[in-house]
Formats: sequence, structure tokens, C-alpha cells
Amino acid sequence: MKYISTRNNYPRVDSAEAIKMGMVPSGGLFVPEEIPVIDNKRLAALAGKSYGEVAREILGLYLTDYSPGEIDDCIAGAYNQENFDHPDMAPLHKLDEGTYILELWHGPTAAFKDMALQIMPHFLSRAVTKVGSDKEIVILVATSGDTGKAALEGFKNVPGIKIIVFYPHEGVSKVQELQMTTTDGDNTYVVAVRGNFDDCQNAVKEIFGDEEYNKFLAEKGYELSSANSINWGRLLPQIVYYFWAYLDLVNKGAVEPGGKINFVVPTGNFGNILAAYYAYRMGLPVNKLICASNINKVLTDFFNTGIYDRNREFIKTASPSMDILISSNLERFLFEAAGHDGDKIREWLGQLASRGMFRVDRETMDEISRILSAGYAGEEDTLWTIREVFRRYGYIVDTHTAVGLKVYFDYVKQTGDRTFTVLDATASPFKFNRAVLEAVEGPGAVQGRDEFETLRELSRITGMEIHPGLKALDRKAVRHDRVIGKDEVKAAVEEILGI
Ligand SMILES: *Cc1c(COP(=O)(O)O)cnc(C)c1O
Repeated sequence: MKYISTRNNYPRVDSAEAIKMGMVPSGGLFVPEEIPVIDNKRLAALAGKSYGEVAREILGLYLTDYSPGEIDDCIAGAYNQENFDHPDMAPLHKLDEGTYILELWHGPTAAFKDMALQIMPHFLSRAVTKVGSDKEIVILVATSGDTGKAALEGFKNVPGIKIIVFYPHEGVSKVQELQMTTTDGDNTYVVAVRGNFDDCQNAVKEIFGDEEYNKFLAEKGYELSSANSINWGRLLPQIVYYFWAYLDLVNKGAVEPGGKINFVVPTGNFGNILAAYYAYRMGLPVNKLICASNINKVLTDFFNTGIYDRNREFIKTASPSMDILISSNLERFLFEAAGHDGDKIREWLGQLASRGMFRVDRETMDEISRILSAGYAGEEDTLWTIREVFRRYGYIVDTHTAVGLKVYFDYVKQTGDRTFTVLDATASPFKFNRAVLEAVEGPGAVQGRDEFETLRELSRITGMEIHPGLKALDRKAVRHDRVIGKDEVKAAVEEILGI
């Protein structure tokens, strides 16, 4: 399997090379040249297999330059009982007869990012050996909150790799901030940026795309890579849980073998739902992918009009990991929908960079509408959904998952589509405990309580144990306290690397 650029501007490379580079140096993202297909017979043979066994099947199709033994080692190092607090890694919770929730938050940092970031460092350290490099790898991460901690946990103390995380100052929850700033490990750096997530992401992308600067870093003995979902190694592991969820439902007798289902995905950077799309293209029986946004609804507008327009106010919400106006992975989706026309993608993304907007053609939109439906939920509706779902089902969801549920309820009302549906739960409710507790008990419930008191209160009313990754945070020492302006990202990198 070879990987090509979405912008038709780079030679084909092996997966190890694509993972090591993170993104195409001259702009563009690596994508598989062809999408492998798992036929029904092969799919049926996977029913009843463990998460690791399903992972082995899927990953092997894409990482053809890794030996089966190497892939097994990566899987064993990631999906185990030390890292995940559930034997299934991603268990399904039945909400009602036709709706299941895929809990993707059982990893060490309580958000779905762990599903990929526990295994990706294993891919990367092997990629470095395969491709051969005499340089130290520097992972630059822009985070809206959850990627940062998941990447820090995945990469800390990995030899030959340094990781620097940039997050929006005062743009993440207290728990998210403490998770990051208390990280130990001798190769981890965390920096708060006075700006929003897009500022962080743009600064990091600019550094990646600056060939001169990368030459300069190389002279100093450093090579950049990315743990954001622009890196193929981050996206690939996410395909696995769509297969896993389907197979588990067949196994439980909830879905007939071969029966189509819907997936609802709370979306920000478009990575998670893109993985669902790859699963669909690989032959997973999918009826619709439902893309759920919060009030920063650039994607909803795009899917309904064909115009992507980021020229709008950035709104901070209770689902901060979805507060994004530039969804990087849309580029990969458009590349597929536009029939691998890299020149078109270069033109559209060029317009996005220069004018903040672009419009895609009719054929591409038709292709998209066949599989994808989109909606958004406002703040009030999101909080209402948390309360209502808790009241009706005794099940508590976080703010991001609640956006997905609300959009799904609206979708059913509008379309009457009763196809069996799986909703991704992207974070543990404890990770966004203040908003969740407020939604259930009213504003009074959080007043005068710090975030650790609200954690305990949430545990009390739900009868759920506090997620292990969040428990002792208030007793840990803060080890990272850099705060910089949004134009100082490069300078911070140099200061940290001592160059
Ligand atoms: C990252 C994140 C999302 C958005 O996922 P994308 O892959 O960026 O679309 C949604 N919910 C939570 C909790 C997240 O951490």
C-alpha cells in the first residue's frame, strides 16, 4: 500500500514514511492510494474476535511495510488492561432497541483520542527505525484540549522523540488544563497560547509547511512530525472501532449480518467521522454518517450549501473540543468525493487560505450527500439533552456526546430514518464535569464548588466511579507554566529545543 498527497504535489511513499513525516511538506495530507475492501465473508469471519484481533486485520491492510509481528507488538503495547479500564476497549452501551452508544473514553485520558494515540507512538518509533533517521523527532501538537493530553501520555518517555503541545490559554476546561500541565516525562513540553484553537493549529501548520525552516531544524538535528489527525498514523487506528462496533452488534444479535447501520459522530477536525467514512468505503455496511457540530457550525453549513466559509465569529462552547472553524481532515474527504482530483483540492484549499472560503462543485456535493448528513446543536439544546437523557435512561453523557445525540434526535424527526444507529461517545462525562453537573442539577450545583468537588458530586448522583485518569489530578504538581502570544509559537519551539 502506497500513500499519495491530496494535492497532487508529492511522490508516493510507504506508510512508515507518511507516518514519520506527518503531512506532505509542501502542503497536503497523505492518503492511501487505494482503499482496501473487506468482503462480507471476511467480515463475517471477524465476528466474535477481540478488539486487538480486529485491529490486526484492519491495520495489516494499510501498514504493508510493517511486519505482522511489528503490528502485533504495537497492538499489544496499546490495547491492554493497563491502558484501558474496560476489557473491550470500546464497549457498547444500549440506550434503546435501535440506538447504541460506543464508549470511546475508556483510555488513560478519558477522551476518544486515546484510541489512536495509545498506538500511534508505537507506529512512529518503528517508522523512524524503518525509514532511518539520524535526527531527533519533534512532535508538534495543536490541541483544543483532548489531543494534547492523549498525545503527551502516548509519547512521554519514548526514546528519540520530544513532544511540544500548544493549547488555547483559557480555552480548555480546568481538568483538561491540569491533565496537561501536570504531565511528567523528560521529553514533554506544554505551552498555553493567548489565542483560540485555530490560532494554535495555524501556527503549527505554518511551521510544518515552511520548507526553509524545516531545513534549518534539520541542520540543528531535529525533524518534525505530527500527532494531530493530519497524521495518517493517527487516523488509521480510528477505523478499527467502527468495524469493532459493527461486529460486536452482530455478535450480540442486535444487528443482522450485512444489515446497514448509521453512525453519529460529534465532529471538530473531521478526523473521527473520516475514519467512519474509510470503514464504509472498505465495505462496512453503513447507511448514513451523521456529522454533528456545535454552534461553530461551519461543517453543517458546508454540507448543506457546498460553501465552506470560515469567516465568522469563533464561539466558545461547553463542547470545546469541537470549537473549530477549519476542519483539517475535510481535505481528505473532499479528495475522495472529488475522485482523487488533487488539483481541485489544491485550488479549494488555496482559496480557504487566502479568502477564508471556497465552494465545491455539484458532482462533489452529490457524492457527499449520498453518504453524509449534517446537523448542529446549540448550547441550550445540548445541556437539555444531557438532562433529558439522564432522566429518561439513567445514562449520563458528556457535552460533546450530547451534541451528537441532539443532532441525532433532530435527524430522526426530520427524516423518519429508523435505521439502527450507533453514536460515538467521545469523552467521559467526568472530563467536562461542570457543564454536565450544571445541566443535570441546575447552575446552583456548581456555584462555590471547585472542579474536584463537582467531580465527586457527579460521581455521587450518577453512581459512576470517577474516571481513573481524572481522580488524583488536584494532588499533582504543575510542571508546565509557559504562556505565550499567538505570534510566539516558533520562538517557543526554538527556546525549548535550545537552538
Ligand atoms: C477531538 C474531539 C472531538 C472532535 O473529533 P474530530 O476527530 O476532531 O472531529 C469530539 N469530541 C471530543 C471529546 C474530542 O476530544
